[in-house]
Amino acid sequence: MSELKQSKEEYSALLARLRAARPEGVSRSEDRLKLPDPRTMVSGKKTYWINFIDFPNLLRRDPNEFLNYFRSQLAINASIENGRAIFMGRPDKHSFSALLQRYLKERVICPVCNSPDTHLEKEKQLTTIVCEACGARSAAK
Ligand SMILES: [Zn+2]
Repeated sequence: MSELKQSKEEYSALLARLRAARPEGVSRSEDRLKLPDPRTMVSGKKTYWINFIDFPNLLRRDPNEFLNYFRSQLAINASIENGRAIFMGRPDKHSFSALLQRYLKERVICPVCNSPDTHLEKEKQLTTIVCEACGARSAAK
């Protein structure tokens, strides 16, 4: 009987440990990133993303890889100049924050534990999100 009691105690200790180790929800993890809002400005036929470089820096992503995502999703050309991104067109300004959310979901947040502490690994055409919190490897979209 004491054996049973002991295993019950072990079980509740295990549960407590699991609870403590359980990652926070997606929104909490994303809050932890403390990302600013994209600041954009339209001038003539171009759109300037003023605080562009903050995003790849905070997300620890290659600025060109990050820009390429927006370039291909918006289907307009863009380049980086002095930390700003210049888009050769006038996309809706809300599309930047919408695409940023999508980028986080597809290429930053670990789908297994919701941690934003990840990096990308590229092999041939495959991009993998490697989670530094739980070690999961997930295919990026
Ligand atoms: Zn993870």
